Amino acid sequence: MITVLRLGHRRGRDDRISTHVGLTARQWGADRIVYSGEKDTSILESQRDIIDRWGGDVEIEYTEDWKKVIRGFEGLSVHLTMYGEKISEKIEGLKEEFDEAGDLLVVVGAEKVPRWVYTRVDYNISVGNQPHSEIAALAVFMDRIQEDQIKEDFEGAGIEVEPSEDQKLTREVDGNE
Ligand code: SAM
Repeated sequence: MITVLRLGHRRGRDDRISTHVGLTARQWGADRIVYSGEKDTSILESQRDIIDRWGGDVEIEYTEDWKKVIRGFEGLSVHLTMYGEKISEKIEGLKEEFDEAGDLLVVVGAEKVPRWVYTRVDYNISVGNQPHSEIAALAVFMDRIQEDQIKEDFEGAGIEVEPSEDQKLTREVDGNE
């Protein structure tokens, strides 16, 4: 099971990025996405709308008490930060630990992430030591830590894309509940 924790959401300013963190987590097979920071029901609702239409059984939730998510987590916890150890040097060990632990918590920030996080997670990992984006960092990390990187099957989808060379094609899927 994979949980993604998005820290420090700021209403208005982070709407699009926070939504894309959720969509990226879902595309790479996360089971649970937890938002914290400023409570923003529109972010949660827009993702639930997408899940209703495009399927998948990922849980989307908000918590004020993000420390509890990290403190109470049993499994491998990884915070993505430009200051962390290099992904290329740690990824093989992380894969083994994830295999053994079965559960993975991936933490991404928005603005400044409190020092507390750096000391409580199992690993602080960088995807390059330059500042970029939580969306990019999450996608690369999720892709590298799993064998089956890009999730293809989304249970209960009402619609799916028909891959095409030059058109935008979708089809309705039977059996959506
Ligand atoms: N100073 C921040 C940091 O610690 O990475 C950059 C802030 S960035 C706008 C927001 C989030 O993107 C960070 O909290 C981190 O989760 C992620 N991020 C940005 N650059 C990263 C990198 N090179 N490696 C891993 N994560 C990164």
